[in-house]
Amino acid sequence: MMKRIFIFPFYCIFFLLSLAGCTNKNAASSSALNNGKLTVVSSIFVPYDFTRVIAGDRVNIKMLLPPAAESHSFEPTPQDIITIQNSDVFIYVGGESDRWAARILDSMDTSKMRILSLMEIVDVVEEEIVEGMEEEDEEDEGPAYDEHVWTSPKNAALILRAITETLCKLDDANSAFYRQNAENYLASLDELDASFRSIVNGTKRKTIIFGDRFPFRYFADAYGLSYFAAFPGCSTETECSAGTVAFLIDKIRAEKIPVVFFIELSNEKIADTLADETGAKKLLLHSAHNISKRDFDKGVSYLELMKQNAVNLKEALQ
Ligand SMILES: [Zn+2]
Repeated sequence: MMKRIFIFPFYCIFFLLSLAGCTNKNAASSSALNNGKLTVVSSIFVPYDFTRVIAGDRVNIKMLLPPAAESHSFEPTPQDIITIQNSDVFIYVGGESDRWAARILDSMDTSKMRILSLMEIVDVVEEEIVEGMEEEDEEDEGPAYDEHVWTSPKNAALILRAITETLCKLDDANSAFYRQNAENYLASLDELDASFRSIVNGTKRKTIIFGDRFPFRYFADAYGLSYFAAFPGCSTETECSAGTVAFLIDKIRAEKIPVVFFIELSNEKIADTLADETGAKKLLLHSAHNISKRDFDKGVSYLELMKQNAVNLKEALQ
């Protein structure tokens, strides 16, 4: 008699748990899981920032790359892999520097996740080696596609739209909120695009020089800029040959180029050398691979970084 009384609640609990399990699994693809919110995980900064703009605190957002870390040598920790597995939406670049993501996704049950690859959202172009640039010891065959797709505001808009559509599909209850935020941001990206265009159209100079890597292929193409740089976009090199330095110094002198650029989180050594030798001013053009810890904590956005880029570009094209 006593036994039956105790056994029955046990069955009940077991039954309820298994029901809850079912509901959770189904919910993963249709609505929220973690404290009633979708979980979005981004490998790098820009999609993280865009998701924050679209969804605010209505989703859980996580950037895998720690602030200030070098994105090209990032390797995920076991905890990162669990974080990806538990996400509703996982966003990565899909290029050379996050091949690890493709490997992980291959070995994972991704049936309940939405996966966005930035390089599948936009039209990609091959990484370019221009005159004077250090070539890398290429281990793998053929040229790689340039993965810095977000550096052009038009591409940024495509990425923002793709993230918005994905969130709206998974979380219909908040879709009006997401779409409104996206529309506002798209208007800002349009203004940004127009401001770059008017800066470039308003000056004769169309050449920019980088004493650094050059992750701005999409940006330069968008505005008809030509460029010279020490290294291609994803180079891991930081030392360059005397020949490269001499070539860039000659260019700066010959065209009286007023500004030499470096990129974020750089040691700035080559830009320093070029600036010292030629008297050109050294300025940052931020490619938004990643941001410093201080900027991350302040919540600095892609748009703010690009607006400062517009100021610096204007000076460089004078
Ligand atoms: Zn890169």
